[in-house]
Amino acid sequence: MICVLGSINTDLVIEVETIPRPGETIEGKSMARYPGGKGANQAVAAARLGARVVMLSKVGRDQFGDALYAGLQENRVDTRNVERVEGPSGLAVISVADNGENAITVVAGANALVDRRYIDKHLDLLASSDILLLQLEIPLATIDYLLRALPAEKPLIILDPSPAQDISHLLLERIDLLTPNEHELNLLIGSSDIEAGSRLLVSRGVRNVICTAGAEGAYLTTSAGITGFPAFNVKPIDTTAAGDAFNGALAWALQTRPLKKAIPYACAAGALATTKRGAQPSLPTLSELEGILKG
Ligand code: ADP
Repeated sequence: MICVLGSINTDLVIEVETIPRPGETIEGKSMARYPGGKGANQAVAAARLGARVVMLSKVGRDQFGDALYAGLQENRVDTRNVERVEGPSGLAVISVADNGENAITVVAGANALVDRRYIDKHLDLLASSDILLLQLEIPLATIDYLLRALPAEKPLIILDPSPAQDISHLLLERIDLLTPNEHELNLLIGSSDIEAGSRLLVSRGVRNVICTAGAEGAYLTTSAGITGFPAFNVKPIDTTAAGDAFNGALAWALQTRPLKKAIPYACAAGALATTKRGAQPSLPTLSELEGILKG
């Protein structure tokens, strides 16, 4: 079983000609509402491929919360431990301009209430999972606490350090797989060199680093060295959630495969996610994944 502890958000995507300046009022061209949040996206990514996925998080008692629950359930994600709390659900307002620039405001809402007490309540469940997926849209202090509270060897922990934050104080030795993109790696260690940056993280205790590099694929660094994994050739139209597709598919594939055999599945899922608009709508099914892997 895969557990995902992370954010659940509603994404409001507004198309604009240009991003408004302070004080300016502009007319939006369209508005679309999608279920999102890195935690929920990764949960759906793994569930859509057939994994048994348990989501751990909180949503508000607002209308957004109702829709978020229903969306996860439609994707067969187990939401029994997702708590309803007073106040708003997580929300991201995303303005996308004609030139591709974007401006994003995230309100953590209920995600900010995923705290130590919640971890204590669900620690047995978390510890009984085979694979645990984490990202950084819930409080860092909660993740810090969890890494120290879990047993040393189980579950296997995949941490996607996104959105980028300083994680140097976390128990890095407990992270089996750290999956930054190039930008996050750069922020984590101040180097744009994938190999040098990944090696540094491994020397600081992370067991394996997979740096995702968009159309260049992904690079796995272990204490034994670095291995490149090529990207699949696609025509991207919206790269939102490529990383979430990658992480969810990686967890799914790792249930039955060794790491080096699992990474191509993750790359394939990331590539497919760029070929459709939106976050969760773009996450591939197993047959889509098998299709691109057969070539
Ligand atoms: P993030 O969405 O976190 O920035 P990336 O852009 O690195 O992450 O994408 C994650 C993975 O998805 C990459 O490692 C790659 O395998 C795949 N991917 C992303 N963009 C493309 C692309 N343009 N072509 C092919 N594969 C891609």
